Amino acid sequence: MHVMVLGAGVTGVTTAWYLRQAGFEVSLIDRQPGAGLETSFANGGQISISHPEPWANPSAPWLALRWLGRTDAPLKLHPARDPAQWRWVIAFLRECLPWRTRHNTAAIAALAVWSGHCLAELRDTTGLEYEQRTRGILHLFNSTREFRHATRRAAELAHFGIEARVCSAADCVEIEPALGFRHGHLAGGMYAPGDESGNAHLFTQALAERLGQAGARLYWNTRILHLNHRNGRIDGVDIADAAGRKGVLSADAYVVCLGSYSPRLLAPLGMRLPIYPVKGYSITAPLTEPARAPEVSLTDESRRIVCSRLGNRLRVAGTAELNGFDTRVRPERIRPLEEWARQNFPGVIDETRITPWAGLRPATPGNLPLIGKGPCPKLWLNTGHGTLGWTLACGSAAALVQLMRGEWPPIAYPFR
Ligand SMILES: Cc1cc2nc3c(=O)[nH]c(=O)nc-3n(C[C@H](O)[C@H](O)[C@H](O)COP(=O)(O)OP(=O)(O)OC[C@H]3O[C@@H](n4cnc5c(N)ncnc54)[C@H](O)[C@@H]3O)c2cc1C
Repeated sequence: MHVMVLGAGVTGVTTAWYLRQAGFEVSLIDRQPGAGLETSFANGGQISISHPEPWANPSAPWLALRWLGRTDAPLKLHPARDPAQWRWVIAFLRECLPWRTRHNTAAIAALAVWSGHCLAELRDTTGLEYEQRTRGILHLFNSTREFRHATRRAAELAHFGIEARVCSAADCVEIEPALGFRHGHLAGGMYAPGDESGNAHLFTQALAERLGQAGARLYWNTRILHLNHRNGRIDGVDIADAAGRKGVLSADAYVVCLGSYSPRLLAPLGMRLPIYPVKGYSITAPLTEPARAPEVSLTDESRRIVCSRLGNRLRVAGTAELNGFDTRVRPERIRPLEEWARQNFPGVIDETRITPWAGLRPATPGNLPLIGKGPCPKLWLNTGHGTLGWTLACGSAAALVQLMRGEWPPIAYPFR
């Protein structure tokens, strides 16, 4: 059976990989000249199994109101005359209800734990190198009020089978000595030793290369224009190459992994996918003092900023902005990330060589990816991974392949 995977971000490439490993004939298509060049390019780098709580939670609406009008707000809405944006915001508010948050957190936790096992297995079997670090994630709390929730969160994670322990400020510095030079108050932390970090782009590229060696057909610089459908059946994909030459590619089944652009492809089939782009930013800079740079990946819970060491570089990422498909880098949104690096690791990065970046998280209102059957026969979905696409990629792909083979994955998740 020939399966065509549409989109070669981390989701599409892992989907193609698991399909090939299961014996399917595979084609992978992307408009970029290689794999992982859009949202999977410069994300926070965290395999953050210990962060299953979605942004849509009971405190989100109050925080959003508090941050209103602040240019450095972790969450910013640019109201647009775009019905899709308003539909998404209303659905997001519904997902903030306590019982929805509990449901979504449990489903993400189950998928994340499984995904962590799948990633470790994939790494063991392929020997893939992607600047990975298996030293856990340390969550930092600047205020005593926020730190008080750490005990409840650690207990909740234990319930999902995720190890996390509450730490004093002194424990945090013991786990990550580079925090000893930090300016500002640290109330305490929560350490999840099973978490990891790594370069999602390197991983995606390296896996795509292996995929080519394993016999998959890779179509780069190939824009997907439409799905051809007749009587509710897909019979091909209209494409155009870099020179604008058009053609049709067909297969026995199609998997949509187009990130934030997935809804555009499915709209003509009458399917309204609840995915909206939530823009985020990162900076990456070479280290001037590697010995004083963090080794453990960090999540600043108070500032909603994450930080990962990638070889001899430091990546700092965060912020969420609802601003349509605009991927331009805004200096005022980059500045809080630079300030964070300066405050936490003074003199550690080369500030003259910072590379800023912005990407669009393909977010569903509850942060649950859409995995399973599409709206018509032969069409499958693996998309909408929001804030956790790198964390959930391997598990989502492995699960989708099981569903395509008529099996049910061994986790409690609302697959389609
Ligand atoms: C600032 C930031 C920090 C983040 N940090 C983390 C983190 O620490 N941990 C984590 O787990 N997740 C993180 N994420 C989320 C994660 O990066 C995303 O969920 C993930 O990259 C989504 O992958 P994807 O493959 O679904 O989408 P993408 O990577 O966007 O891939 C979609 C692909 O589809 C292709 N495409 C789209 N339309 C077409 C078309 N018409 N024709 C052909 N090709 C097309 C694109 O070229 C692209 O390659 C972060 C995101 C951001 C923005």
